[in-house]
Amino acid sequence: MTTQTMKTRFAPSPTGYLHLGNVRTALFNALLARHGNGRFVLRIEDTDQERSRPEYVAALLEDLRWLGLDWQEGPEIGGPCAPYAQSERAAIYAEYYQRLEAAEQVYPCFCTPAELALSRKAQRAAGRPPRYAGTCARLSAAERQARLERGLQPTLRFRTPPGKPVEFTDLVRGPQRFASDDIGDFIIRRADGTPQFFFANAVDDALMGMTQVLRGEDHLTNTPRQLLLLDALELPAPEYGHLALIVGADGGPLSKREGDLSLRELRAAGYLPEALLNYLARLGHHYAQDGWMELAELAAGFATEHLGRAPARYDEAQLLHGQAEAVRHAVPERLWTWMGAAVHQWVSPVQREEFIATVRPNIRFPVDAAFWAERLFSADLTLSEDSQAVILQAGPEFFIQALAAYAEHGAAYQPLVEALKQRTGVKGKNLFMPLRAALTGETHGPELARILALLPPEAVRQRLEAASLHS
Ligand code: GLU
Repeated sequence: MTTQTMKTRFAPSPTGYLHLGNVRTALFNALLARHGNGRFVLRIEDTDQERSRPEYVAALLEDLRWLGLDWQEGPEIGGPCAPYAQSERAAIYAEYYQRLEAAEQVYPCFCTPAELALSRKAQRAAGRPPRYAGTCARLSAAERQARLERGLQPTLRFRTPPGKPVEFTDLVRGPQRFASDDIGDFIIRRADGTPQFFFANAVDDALMGMTQVLRGEDHLTNTPRQLLLLDALELPAPEYGHLALIVGADGGPLSKREGDLSLRELRAAGYLPEALLNYLARLGHHYAQDGWMELAELAAGFATEHLGRAPARYDEAQLLHGQAEAVRHAVPERLWTWMGAAVHQWVSPVQREEFIATVRPNIRFPVDAAFWAERLFSADLTLSEDSQAVILQAGPEFFIQALAAYAEHGAAYQPLVEALKQRTGVKGKNLFMPLRAALTGETHGPELARILALLPPEAVRQRLEAASLHS
């Protein structure tokens, strides 16, 4: 027995940069394919000539690669169903228009946008859902010819079969039922000759052998049209699953402030790909297990049964948590590159590893790392207000004793603290806080023992001395 290879796809329209919403769609399709040992296809839906731009194609390829969502067929790598950009598939579509023409399932429509708008308005006013009135469906061959001779550029409309229920089981939303009479005849080729979304998208899914299609809920009402088309063309339909949209904390559409950000913006802010993947994989999808997962684990636990029907609420705190986890799991070389020049200027190669180990639990973004690099390695330490207060409270003698204890024990943290405790009679928070404040200028931050080991002895002495003089 042979079973069909599972195939999923991401089919973006390159009219802008990838945002969290479409990245999540890409991720879910990629995870589904990986889970089923299938193939993940990337197809560029660039039929809208005005809004599609090559730079957006380049950006999305780069973004997907950065995320680690590699495709097994698609742009740059090719595959058995090439080409993978719809703008290059005109000849293929032509063949399928012809089939529909031969079967008289389509007709040229000469209605102008203004006429169509007027008709929709009239239907709405009469309390009817707007659908194509069928004007051009009834033209005789002679009438069509006359219009063509006048140089009118028709669209091509699909003759929706009347009185037909369209039923399918959505992978997320369960059984769906639409009536073809509510749909009306719809355009499959624009007047400029380019294919309409419904057509190119459905034909390509069939020809490219898609078995499952996960896409945004905004496409749910397109599905009956696409199923009617595939039926007319005798092409196989994939299983569709429509993903609940991502909404803001208030349940409304995502705002810019609330995460309607492009992947480029998130990347520029220092988000690591794993943080986004871990977060997005749980945005509208449920895993049995909590906590950090590698891509392979995310795929292993992915199931369409775990996709939610309720809108998925964006939660920045969760994303930030994912980011902290990503930083915790990244190998040092990677973090070093990620930290960038603002850190590299302060930290010498010999201190690199120790610096990363020291600050790792306390940073989420490169700016956080730069903050600590500057705090630890700048010759002039600026004390925060809290630090100044803590230092004053401890008094000069505390730091004179700290200098003496450091002279005896150096960066050996436990013995040093023990000695300081003996010398001053101070313990607990009252001992650690002034030390931390004097050494870092802050009253919070990375582990003190590590800081002590990381700071050059000269800097430790100088900072303790400065604190002893602070009054
Ligand atoms: N190009 C369409 C979009 O970006 C694809 C929809 C689909 O996945 O079928 O919305």
